[in-house]
Amino acid sequence: MKTVDIEKLVRPNILALKPYSSARDEFQGSEGIFLDANENPFGTLNRYPDPHQKALKTKLSEVKNVPAKQIFIGNGSDEVIDLIYRIFCEPGKESAIICPPTYGMYEVSANINNIGLQKIPLTTDFQLDIEKILQTAEADTSVKLIFVCSPNNPTGNRLENLEKLLDNFNGIVVADEAYIDFCPEHSLKSKINNYPNLIVMQTFSKAWALAGVRVGMAFADEKIISLLDKTKPPYNVSAINQQAALETLSHPDEFEERRNTILQQKAHLAEELSKMEIVKRIYPSDANFLLVEVSDANRIYNELVQK
Ligand code: PMP
Repeated sequence: MKTVDIEKLVRPNILALKPYSSARDEFQGSEGIFLDANENPFGTLNRYPDPHQKALKTKLSEVKNVPAKQIFIGNGSDEVIDLIYRIFCEPGKESAIICPPTYGMYEVSANINNIGLQKIPLTTDFQLDIEKILQTAEADTSVKLIFVCSPNNPTGNRLENLEKLLDNFNGIVVADEAYIDFCPEHSLKSKINNYPNLIVMQTFSKAWALAGVRVGMAFADEKIISLLDKTKPPYNVSAINQQAALETLSHPDEFEERRNTILQQKAHLAEELSKMEIVKRIYPSDANFLLVEVSDANRIYNELVQK
């Protein structure tokens, strides 16, 4: 197991933060008359949701084979991205590495939080330039973390050699696995006990078909999970969201069936696209979408928008 002193990577104000104590934490139990949170006694959604999402984490723990205490639930993974910046990067001083072309929110969220970015583009075959990443992290002590997206949006491929990065990068490594359910055997979630600096993000928005619900997950060492827990807004995941995610997890057959349909349709789409004259190249995809090179891309784009 790699040793990393996580506390040294955390912003001092977050390390010292005394988290908000929610009324629901003061009393353990489900029976009784609740007077402690100034709620309304009427209605069906009158109570604050469980701030620890216990029922959802218990079920997720079974499905994902990760202990509940190593799971964090966010209001979509976009909330997790924002929290990671706020926990580890001092605004105006510290920075992160991203590897474009990649998911746009790593940059937007860094800009919102006034976090510097070192951009180290993917190689021509859309893989990480690991040597350059390690050199940059070594030379620039403001670098606290790196976002890697696998399968990557928008290229669709899995990133290789992530363990080499994990073995040698001593900041936080965030592996965004939003599309991993389309190639689950490649998840890094089984490595969270080997690398205390690894955060694996997943989401209900893609293969679980719940983008409207806003539920994202992070799997990591307990220390990182407790930092995420104390920094999040207490009721970040609504009761409706928690219930919808829980409900979906109870229908594994439907999940499996839909995923198979999407993967079959992806293969069918690739085959049909390959017959078209405008299509120059279809890149290999481990996700639910395809990166396709076409001739005269802007014209085709505009025509599709018109239609
Ligand atoms: N990561 C990647 C790579 C994505 O493509 C997306 C959504 N397009 C997200 C995260 C956002 O996920 P969520 O809906 O859970 O916020």
